[in-house]
Amino acid sequence: MSAVNATFAEIARAICQHQRIAVLSHVRPDGDALGSQLALALSLQKLGKDVRVWNEEGMLEKYSFVPRAELVTKPPAEPEDVDLAIALDTAIQNRLGSALTAIRATKLWINIDHHLSNPRYGDLVHIDDSAPATGQILFDLITTQNLPIDRDIAENLYVAISTDTGSFQYPKTTARTLEIAAELVRVGLDVGVISRQLYENFPRRRIELLRELLRTMRFDGNGRVASFKLSLQTANELGVIPEDNEGLIDHLRAIRGVIVAVFFEELPDDKIRVSMRSKDERVDVCAICLKFGGGGHTLAAGARIRGTLSEVEERVLKAVCDAVDCQS
Ligand code: 5GP
Ligand code: MN
Repeated sequence: MSAVNATFAEIARAICQHQRIAVLSHVRPDGDALGSQLALALSLQKLGKDVRVWNEEGMLEKYSFVPRAELVTKPPAEPEDVDLAIALDTAIQNRLGSALTAIRATKLWINIDHHLSNPRYGDLVHIDDSAPATGQILFDLITTQNLPIDRDIAENLYVAISTDTGSFQYPKTTARTLEIAAELVRVGLDVGVISRQLYENFPRRRIELLRELLRTMRFDGNGRVASFKLSLQTANELGVIPEDNEGLIDHLRAIRGVIVAVFFEELPDDKIRVSMRSKDERVDVCAICLKFGGGGHTLAAGARIRGTLSEVEERVLKAVCDAVDCQS
């Protein structure tokens, strides 16, 4: 483990020197996780590599429109030996879940990510927290090292970057991000078609879930902290699946005066999944989540906390209000 980033040339050399490669990402994957996995895996396949693309959840229904989506599979029950394992967008190694335990042995680990809290596990580590998406780092890896790129790879990179920047809105979206998007579009993407599939094709279930969440909405800290919560009972009644709630927290963040938005979701294992978003760099939600055993980015972080919904809600909202108070 090194504090210095591996160069793209070193990463490309390691890729060239190994044949059986596993491309992995985190549990509860988002568009950046799955888009990054597929983009890199497709490029490696074009190099003639023997590639596995494992995610604990397999491909999500809502991203199943992306090119070559079928390459993403759930990890095998029997662990396998590979030559090289590559973790993408995964802030701590055990967030790979069953994709981690499916690797019996590997000669080398590569860790490519944009989470500041990443503890730099692995042999070759490239963490760039200025990148708004892991997909943006992969674009630079692929183009600087002349790794293969085609329309399918470009579309997966575009999905990764579009989703993790909140459709090119979040503060880490730079001129460079937009230039990369432009280069990807030039490869032949139809932005309108992709956006419709990403942002205008939700199952009705998701909006029914939003309706229930809004019923539980509360404000603390003089309107600077907004939260809502989802009980297991409500989730079961609505028949929601985990991917339904990605992005719903943005409705809270969008409220004028709100600095921190929090979403509490009761999980079947006596834990509560907490999602946090901040609109102010001075209120670091990653630091708050680290206190509860989680992590993430300054403006977007999360944790899984043992306890009941109301217990965790009170403890976490107290910590958030304290953090917000410190900044005013
Ligand atoms: P989300 O709220 O979208 O699930 O996650 C926001 C950010 O926080 C993501 O970048 C994600 O990696 C990180 N994050 C979410 N949950 C956890 C967690 O339980 N542990 C850690 N270390 N990071 C998390
Ligand atoms: Mn990401």
